[in-house]
Amino acid sequence: MAIASKPVHSISCPIALFMMDLDKVSLWGSVLTELQLALSGANFQTWFRGKTAILNIENGVVEVGCASAYNKIWIEERYQGTIKEILDRVTGINTALTFSVSSQVQTQEKTRKKPKEALSVPLFEEDPGPSLQKSFKVAAVSQHYSFSNFIVGQSNQLAYAVGKAVADYPAGRYNPLLVYGGVGVGKTHLLQAIGQSFLIRNPDAKALYISSETFTNDMVEAIQKKQTIIFREKYRNLDLLLVDDVQFIAGRESTQEQFFHTFNELHAKSKQIVLSCDRDPSELSNLEERLKNRFVGGMVAKIDPPDLELREAILLAKAKRLGLSIEFPLIKLLAVQLGSSIRELEGALLRVAAVARLTNTKIDRETIKTAIGLQKQGKKTAAQVLERVASYFSLPVAVLKGTSRSREHVFPRQVAMYLLRKASNKSFYEIARRFNDKDHTTVIYSVNKVENMVENDTEIARIVEELKSGIFNN
Ligand code: ADP
Ligand code: MG
Repeated sequence: MAIASKPVHSISCPIALFMMDLDKVSLWGSVLTELQLALSGANFQTWFRGKTAILNIENGVVEVGCASAYNKIWIEERYQGTIKEILDRVTGINTALTFSVSSQVQTQEKTRKKPKEALSVPLFEEDPGPSLQKSFKVAAVSQHYSFSNFIVGQSNQLAYAVGKAVADYPAGRYNPLLVYGGVGVGKTHLLQAIGQSFLIRNPDAKALYISSETFTNDMVEAIQKKQTIIFREKYRNLDLLLVDDVQFIAGRESTQEQFFHTFNELHAKSKQIVLSCDRDPSELSNLEERLKNRFVGGMVAKIDPPDLELREAILLAKAKRLGLSIEFPLIKLLAVQLGSSIRELEGALLRVAAVARLTNTKIDRETIKTAIGLQKQGKKTAAQVLERVASYFSLPVAVLKGTSRSREHVFPRQVAMYLLRKASNKSFYEIARRFNDKDHTTVIYSVNKVENMVENDTEIARIVEELKSGIFNN
């Protein structure tokens, strides 16, 4: 069902009618697209995808159907504010929400072959088949990130070329391979593509992709459980080890020690190691000299932020995959307006798709502007997040950022760090800088801690959710 066939300007109350006649599926699709960007993947999958729909819209009252009573309660309590905020923004009116349980929601979803509710960038071409899928899983390699969907330009061509060489001829000339570059330039994508391509060629080989944070956590757990031998075994038998974001082990003594041994052992056995880092490792002041030397002892490839041409090429390719018909001058407009992170480009494209679908119109300059506007609005500054948390806990911002160890200050501070990480996607270093230049490992610890508390303590989950929705709604 499309928007009213009558032209909108001839209607006395255009917005209300627009709202009534709006395609429910499209509208909910837009809401889901935004929720997907705002929530963690797991939360989104658990509560929204395929489990919710708009059942009815009348006089600005939107009835949201939920697949089960439990689902309904959860969404009503935690996400009502966020959903309303998105609906108000995309419809331009002050909506009211009602929630109900409807078994139709699920069956609707099951009978539809291609789910249309949520847009996401479809990344992978073909099903790898069950056996390969299994080795991907063991290696923590995703089928979505491949060389074939990695678009090459000037800024990343060296990294791409040596990445391919490593996948084709592991432990050859480039061992270790270290790629470095800023946020969202494709480091993780490249490491994953190396893992994927390597496994396709060597299905029986052992590969492992791991972030240095997970490596650290694994190690700490192994020490606690007195299972260091198992920990060692896990790494020393690998043919390919991909470690993402090695900057996080800087400053952690025992992790560096362990990593040094793992590295040496694999290297001595002629096994391939690939590392990524968010900067030139020589700039990591807390990284042991001997590790620095190891890291840059093979091949080092820098990935620069994408230039305009590459941004355009990426947007074109992703638009095509999304099935969006968007004229080249408009692609250019997006590419010019948006910055250096490819993740940001993807987000913008999803928003353009949502806006276009919602208004059921061709993508034009207006659509692009609205979408970019939404994107910028969605980004909260660190200062806004800090203010919000401080006022929630009735603390001065200075205390929140300060060094007091008293419990009533430490918890809000940890929550603030967690929210900065989740809501504004800041790096651990950037966050640490906001808190009197604390060590970034304190931030990692705090974020992990709050994440655990949110999972295990409903009261804390509620506080965090309240803060989150406050931050996104203002
Ligand atoms: P980083 O790890 O450097 O922060 P990612 O690898 O996570 O960045 O990339 C961010 C997003 O941009 C991912 O969705 C990734 O697939 C996409 N991306 C990055 N570089 C490219 C590229 N050259 N071609 C296509 N997509 C890319
Ligand atoms: Mg990454």
